[in-house]
Amino acid sequence: MQIFTCPFCGPREETEFHFAAEAGKRRPEPAETTSDADWADYLYMNAAPRRPAREVWVHLTCGEFFTMTRDTVTREVSDAAPLPGRER
Ligand SMILES: [Zn+2]
Repeated sequence: MQIFTCPFCGPREETEFHFAAEAGKRRPEPAETTSDADWADYLYMNAAPRRPAREVWVHLTCGEFFTMTRDTVTREVSDAAPLPGRER
């Protein structure tokens, strides 16, 4: 069992967390005129790097989204921080 650290609640078991998205991914705007191919890329395509990846996760217990930098090979977490504007 891996331990992740929620920036709001502290260390918790990984089962309390859910991957949300790659950090920094931009929604195509205006969405109404975005092509189906570009919209599908936005929804389903991820860079999925083999090393440190900056991702958005949600802690299901408190409902807060935050960024986490996680090595996708070693599973080491090097950083977890609230999303901009969500700091307490
Ligand atoms: Zn939390």
